[in-house]
Amino acid sequence: MTGIDDLPIRDELRGKSPYGAPQLDVPVRLNTNENPYPLPEELVARITERVAEAARHLNRYPDRDAIELRTELAGYLTRTAGHQVSVANVWAANGSNEVLQQLLQTFGGPGRTAIGFEPSYSMHALISRGTGTGWISGPRNADYTIDVDAARAAIAEHRPDVVFITSPNNPTGTAVEAETVLALHDAAQAARADAAGALVVIDEAYGEFSHRPSLLPLIEGRPRLVLSRTMSKAFGAAGLRLGYLAADPAVVDAVQLVRLPYHLSAVTQATALAALEHTDTLLGYVETLKAERDRLVSELRALGCEVTESDANFVQFGRFEDAHAAWQALLERGVLVRDNGVPGMLRVTAGTPAENDAFLDAVRELMKETS
Ligand code: PMP
Repeated sequence: MTGIDDLPIRDELRGKSPYGAPQLDVPVRLNTNENPYPLPEELVARITERVAEAARHLNRYPDRDAIELRTELAGYLTRTAGHQVSVANVWAANGSNEVLQQLLQTFGGPGRTAIGFEPSYSMHALISRGTGTGWISGPRNADYTIDVDAARAAIAEHRPDVVFITSPNNPTGTAVEAETVLALHDAAQAARADAAGALVVIDEAYGEFSHRPSLLPLIEGRPRLVLSRTMSKAFGAAGLRLGYLAADPAVVDAVQLVRLPYHLSAVTQATALAALEHTDTLLGYVETLKAERDRLVSELRALGCEVTESDANFVQFGRFEDAHAAWQALLERGVLVRDNGVPGMLRVTAGTPAENDAFLDAVRELMKETS
């Protein structure tokens, strides 16, 4: 039988594993940071209308520049993220994963490197590898915050072309201070002062769930600082595949060099526009989820777990002697959480109150058994 390694694949892909959160059919699925609330019926009806209208024109390519969608996304950010941006500042793609891929195709690539501070979102390293960009794993403190001095030193040593800062961070839930972002941004520019500087990407996929304001205002006057966002979490639309960035218009111009023509289908654009019309309802669910996230933190602590402070729609908890065995024990009780490979720790996504109760009951039983 032919295996991957028998094929002439690129050397840097040999022996590597694909992204693979298990998609298991269990009663309580709290493993991929999805929003547990299905879209409200009035939004489903609006999507149906807008998609029907788009369907009448599917013989034509979609708006290549997604102007209406980018204008609405800019309006959403301006209203909710504390800083005015316009269509020229915003770019959209199929999930923020594609946004990140386009950024790495433009600013990374063979002979270049990207750094992230781990544990963090595993796709930063995987998309780097996929675009031929070298990956540097930067350090964190024991409490999972970014160690600013060590991060600055790693940047000075490796002179990366791209710096990833995930806030709130996945899988830890840790938010990053604006001062930390600025310190790393300045260090990255200083390290590459002889080139044209470095691109600093704030991955704010979970921004809407944070106790703190968005880091969006930091892009002002910093053309090498990019904010990445998604409709997968706060908008409850992971199945839509719509991510976006906000940055200086020059960054938006630059990614045009690598984007595929007509990459965002007319159906995607129509669906995203319908969802944006229902922003207020969807952000109402975000408030419920934030309260549930805070409840998970306090109840897990009351059960004797070690819990990492969270600004996201998930919570990192432990500390287990064998995290994978704990993951398996929860699965046997019908609750799927995530083992991200952080020693001793697991991650649970905030679900509905009933799902969270089921999860807490399962943890309670597990703690009883192991104590
Ligand atoms: N960034 C982070 C930090 C994430 O956790 C995720 C999804 N798990 C993404 C980006 C990608 O999300 P999407 O492609 O659905 O926008």
